[in-house]
This record gives sequence, structure tokens and C-alpha cells, in this order.
Amino acid sequence: MGIRFCSLSSGSSGNCQYIETDNTRMLIDGGFSGKRIECLLSSIGVSPSTLDGILVTHEHIDHVKGVGILSRRYDIPIYANANTWIAMNSTIGEVKEKNTKVFITEKDQDINDITIHPFNIFHDAIEPVGYLIYYKNIKISIVTDTGWVNDTIKDKIRGSSLYLMESNHDITMLKEGSYPWHLKKRIMSTKGHLSNEDAGRVLGEVLLGKGEIVLLGHLSQENNVPSLAHETVKNYILNCGINVHKDITLNLTYRDKVTKVYTL
Ligand SMILES: [Zn+2]
Ligand SMILES: [Zn+2]
Repeated sequence: MGIRFCSLSSGSSGNCQYIETDNTRMLIDGGFSGKRIECLLSSIGVSPSTLDGILVTHEHIDHVKGVGILSRRYDIPIYANANTWIAMNSTIGEVKEKNTKVFITEKDQDINDITIHPFNIFHDAIEPVGYLIYYKNIKISIVTDTGWVNDTIKDKIRGSSLYLMESNHDITMLKEGSYPWHLKKRIMSTKGHLSNEDAGRVLGEVLLGKGEIVLLGHLSQENNVPSLAHETVKNYILNCGINVHKDITLNLTYRDKVTKVYTL
């Protein structure tokens, strides 16, 4: 069997993704209450006690809210870099020493039968990371909470079979919306969040049109509309000569429900 991926939920109010191989079950972030994550997992038939670890991207509450609770309740290791451990310490509470796994950003690490590669992204957290996850010849890219995707990141993620790509806001909706100016400025900065337009540009550059699965994530409730995110990204990809309906799968993730389980 290959690798299975499911977005349990993604959006500004919380993020939690699930991957599974024959020997490994992991969450990427756990930005909901423990109870909510248990419920989302059970909807795809997974018991939290069978998890092998939780990978943390950065210390913001919409990514770490439930990770400490789950670790304590089910004895699950948490993986993060040293700076993120310090920054999330007071939020997630005490974690057993054996479940405190510290990785080095930009260095490969094996966990059972998968290899993870945490890489630097651009966001207003202490040391935020995206992830490449390798299983056999399959690569998955997790790119959320980054104000900018530079050439280094594009080179890393190119060739993935599945992309979870941030598509946070529509630039016009954000500019004309009700957020105070300082918040608009923060979101639009290179250390904020990726717009639909930027997500489309990045995907247009990295996609090969060879059956990749693209899931748009971390949509803003205030400054985006799912259909608009999908349409905007689709048009950018089409402009790069890729037939969105035939050559790839372009789907959304949801703020409050699971996606289907994608098998690669
Ligand atoms: Zn964040
Ligand atoms: Zn976030």
C-alpha cells in the first residue's frame, strides 16, 4: 500500500492533517481541542491511541491547541524544532521527556517508515516550518502559514504527489474588508499568509501536470470564499498550460470537516 492523506480540518480557526502508511500514523499540527481532534479522527476510523507522533509547524494556537492534551492522554511523541518547543511551552503544557522530540530544521529525520524534511518558511513565528514527507518514491508537501514562497521552497516542493498549499485570502477582499490596517499589513507581509493569487503563481511554477493532487488550505473565513480561492488558483494553473480538470486534481480543504482520504 501507499500513503494516505486526509485534511481533518484547515483554516484560520484551526489546522490538523493526518497521514498514514502501513506502519506509521502521524498528525501534522493539532490546532483544535483534544476532544475535537478525537472526533475528527474517529470520523475516518482512526483511534488517537494508534498515532505515532504529531509534527508541529509553529507555535500559533491554531496549530498547537490540542497537541499537549493528546500527547498526555495517549502518550504520543511531539516533533518540533528547539525554538518552537520554547515558544509553545506555556501553551501546550507539560510533555513527557520521552515524547519531546526535537528536530533540526532543514535536516531529514526518519520516523518509522517515513522520512520528514522540515524546511524554513516565512511567517511571524519563532522558527516556522513546512514539511516534505517521503514514503518510498512518494513525496508530500505541506506549505501553510507562509507569507512568501521563494525559489528555495519551490525547488524543494517540486515533484510532490500531493500538495497542501496555503490559499489564505483574496487580496481585494482583504484590502477592502473590515480588518484593522495593522492586521491587514501583517497578513499581506512576507511573514504573513499566502494569498490565492500567490498560491496560484507558485503552483503554476511547480506543478508538472502528472496527476498531482493539490489541496488548498488555511482559507480565511473573513477574507476568502472557497469557490473564489478554487477559481483563482485554477486560472493561474491553466495559464501555465496545465489542464486543471485532466492533468491534476485541485480540491479544497474545509474549516470544519474532513476531506476524503487521498491514497497515493
Ligand atoms: Zn501561524
Ligand atoms: Zn495558522
